[in-house]
Amino acid sequence: MTACDLSRREFVVRSGSCAAYLSATAAFAGPTAARLWAAPRRTVVAQEAWGRIEAVGDGLWALISTPLTGDYTTLSNGGIIRGRNGVLIVEGTASPEGAVWMAEQAKELAGRVPTHVVVTHHHGDHSRGVDGFSSSPKLHVTESIQDRVTGSFDTGTEPDRARPWADVTLIGIDDPTEIDLGGRTAIIRPLDGHTQSDLVVDLPEDGVTWCGDLVWNEMFPNYVDATPSRLSASVDALRADERTVWVPGHGPLADAADMATYQSILDDIGAAARRAAVAGRTAAEAAELYSLPEDVGEWTLFNPGYFERAIGAWMRELEG
Ligand SMILES: [Zn+2]
Repeated sequence: MTACDLSRREFVVRSGSCAAYLSATAAFAGPTAARLWAAPRRTVVAQEAWGRIEAVGDGLWALISTPLTGDYTTLSNGGIIRGRNGVLIVEGTASPEGAVWMAEQAKELAGRVPTHVVVTHHHGDHSRGVDGFSSSPKLHVTESIQDRVTGSFDTGTEPDRARPWADVTLIGIDDPTEIDLGGRTAIIRPLDGHTQSDLVVDLPEDGVTWCGDLVWNEMFPNYVDATPSRLSASVDALRADERTVWVPGHGPLADAADMATYQSILDDIGAAARRAAVAGRTAAEAAELYSLPEDVGEWTLFNPGYFERAIGAWMRELEG
């Protein structure tokens, strides 16, 4: 049996080696994975090729991006949070066009243009579109996020892109920050693990938390800038909150069972890295041998290199 003779289920969960024959991007996940996300978990109020908006509470909407279709307009998940005096958008999305669309959705659903934006971490799929918000919303980020984003492009030759990042409202990393939207307070909590500086947007009274890329659902996480033990600790903290809905950075809306599955995957990849270290294998060799636990159901790899990346990140941390 060649790597590509795997059954559909095996292909989806094991695609490490098979994927190499196909594509270096999500395209390999193909129509199977696209179908996996086709079923929304809540009422859909808007739908485009790149994603959909689901209602997750009174005046609360989640963007679930569907990049497995090949359309990367938004790429990351996000959200719209309505208060009496303001509207907070979670994430800048991956392109100015994505942000323009989110602003239109805010106007349509929440009745006003965005007044606040929180970008959960510096990665481009969450931050790249910020200059698409023409209403000049307040941009809330940590200093680390601001530094990393502004360090990723030439502020001289890309003035439009630079403008919103020159004047941000800094979020401290020691304590949560409250954003008063009028009759509703969004709590911005600093955590870390997916990157050096991650933010979550928490609405305890509504039972909803936007987790940024600390949480992925039905899609294996990207460890490119991760500190694996910190990631696991942050996920523990998020699960302890006992919310009704956790909005992941990528993939469909998560409930408590999804969060348990996600944590079991994080634990399993850590165990695989420990075994590899003991056996003297490289991360690439360990990734080649790795498959997700049987009971997790269908998870996709956005990129075929993600197992190696995750095991490598763990091995670096274990080596100290
Ligand atoms: Zn992301």
